[in-house]
Amino acid sequence: MARKNRDEFASWDEAQPEPVFCPLCERVIPDEQMDAHHLVPKSKGGKQTVALHRICHDQIHSIFTDAQLAKKFSTIEAILEDAAVQKFVAWVKGKPPGFSDSAKESQQSNRGRGRKA
Ligand SMILES: [Zn+2]
Ligand SMILES: [Zn+2]
Repeated sequence: MARKNRDEFASWDEAQPEPVFCPLCERVIPDEQMDAHHLVPKSKGGKQTVALHRICHDQIHSIFTDAQLAKKFSTIEAILEDAAVQKFVAWVKGKPPGFSDSAKESQQSNRGRGRKA
């Protein structure tokens, strides 16, 4: 029996996009889960953004108001010190990178790793 699997593994290295890591949960962010978070909310004049999972981003905004973000939680470090955030991070870290709590895609019919053109 010939082993042909090695060739398949070799082709894995091709065209791998540079992975982006979420500073909140430290998992890779898939393209379709990527959100830009304003460290200081736009409404407060903030311009700097960080890439986060959509689920992590939603969580930040459900825990903090724009006023709180602008005043006290304008860095990832500050956000990570919050107990509610830590609880969420501990939970989400155990999920696969593409995990989403919305049931929009209830079945993973297409698990291809290709990027949308
Ligand atoms: Zn994340
Ligand atoms: Zn945001």
